[in-house]
Amino acid sequence: MKNDVTIVGGGPAGMLMGLLLAKENIKVVVLEKNNSLKRDFRGETIAPGSVYILKMLGVYQELEKHGFIKVNKIKMYDQEKNLFNVDFNRFNHPQKYGIDMPQPVVLEAIKRQAMKYPSFQYINGANCTDLIKENGKVVGVQYKHEGEIKKIHSQLVIGAEGRFSQLRSLAEYDVKKEEFSRDLIWFKVPKPLNWEEGNLIKVYKNDHVIILPTYPNYLRVGTYISLGDNANTKSKGLDSFIEKVSRIEPRLLTPMKDHITSWKDTTLLKIFTAHVDKWAKDGIILIGDSAHTLSPILGQGVNIAMQDAYELTPYVVKGLSAYQNSPIPASHFDEFVSKRKQQISFVSSFQARQEQNLAASSPVECAIRKWKMKMLDRTPFKYTVMKKLQYGIVANNKVEV
Ligand SMILES: Cc1cc2nc3c(=O)[nH]c(=O)nc-3n(C[C@H](O)[C@H](O)[C@H](O)COP(=O)(O)OP(=O)(O)OC[C@H]3O[C@@H](n4cnc5c(N)ncnc54)[C@H](O)[C@@H]3O)c2cc1C
Repeated sequence: MKNDVTIVGGGPAGMLMGLLLAKENIKVVVLEKNNSLKRDFRGETIAPGSVYILKMLGVYQELEKHGFIKVNKIKMYDQEKNLFNVDFNRFNHPQKYGIDMPQPVVLEAIKRQAMKYPSFQYINGANCTDLIKENGKVVGVQYKHEGEIKKIHSQLVIGAEGRFSQLRSLAEYDVKKEEFSRDLIWFKVPKPLNWEEGNLIKVYKNDHVIILPTYPNYLRVGTYISLGDNANTKSKGLDSFIEKVSRIEPRLLTPMKDHITSWKDTTLLKIFTAHVDKWAKDGIILIGDSAHTLSPILGQGVNIAMQDAYELTPYVVKGLSAYQNSPIPASHFDEFVSKRKQQISFVSSFQARQEQNLAASSPVECAIRKWKMKMLDRTPFKYTVMKKLQYGIVANNKVEV
């Protein structure tokens, strides 16, 4: 098989990339190792900037038919004391909210839209196992599908296979991985009555919870434990865990008692960040989590992954025609990589500062956190910083699809 571009991974980055290239009449195939798009407990919140892109591509209209939760607020409290607020209605941008809905529905809607273009192909159950190289340049991939090894040749391979990317090692990328000093336990409970929509962060001394309203009628709750403390947390029993969480947010006590009845109702997430220095090599480029795995703070992973795809599209179009029938050289993507790295460095340093705030443990550190958050809340730059974070490349509305 031969085509222009092969995308490995049908997540938010890969699937959107497929649609954007198909719209440009580029012969593109998306290989997805799973047979279905079902996935558990992953990026369910899409920031307003990417919702705006989905709207312009006609995907949002499909999502509306399914239904979602509009996310238009972020609030932070120290117990009942309000420290920090962001109201998305105050952003000077036509898109006033992010959305929360199951990721498979979003991926399915993007795929359906892409299928309208004859140059788009999607193969599921296709596990990419190797790269095909000629003279040190990537010219295609090898994948396992229905028990057979198959090959595709193309001018460009786009690696979009997420945080455990295999192409990263197959193409010998240098990866800088950093483990966080804490692990995260997630669970889902039905939303109590009269719960205000919006993302909520609650801190209490050296503990905190992150609470995200989740479609259709749930709350996704995350709380940190010390690194490697999972066995110890479990040995203290579920009641002690429920007590720890509901001490920070008492309204979670009843739903947790009713619905978190075993540790199987919780998920442990190892948090790490991974950054690849040079995203492109001759014939291959990485995007999304495979190029930059971020921390889950303020749910930016899907946003950044989709915006990588959006911003990469014109470079791929130009590269394919400039280097006809040969692999697109790494240098062609220098400008793209440099632009994206600026945005990602902004997001990851913002996340690192918030992580430091949340990790406050001594009474002095907790008091400094309170002061810092209140100052940040009052600064006139608050909406400028939050807009850059929530909207990324579409912050200035200057975008066409
Ligand atoms: C618990 C949790 C909660 C999160 N919550 C949020 C949130 O609310 N908002 C947010 O923005 N982000 C969130 N994130 C992060 C977000 O899920 C990711 O940043 C985002 O999905 C990255 O998109 P991607 O397309 O780069 O990779 P992925 O979504 O990981 O997609 C990669 C795809 O590649 C496929 N694949 C892997 N290997 C191969 C192979 N060899 N061959 C073929 N296919 C392959 C995988 O099956 C997968 O479908 C969360 C992450 C976690 C872990």
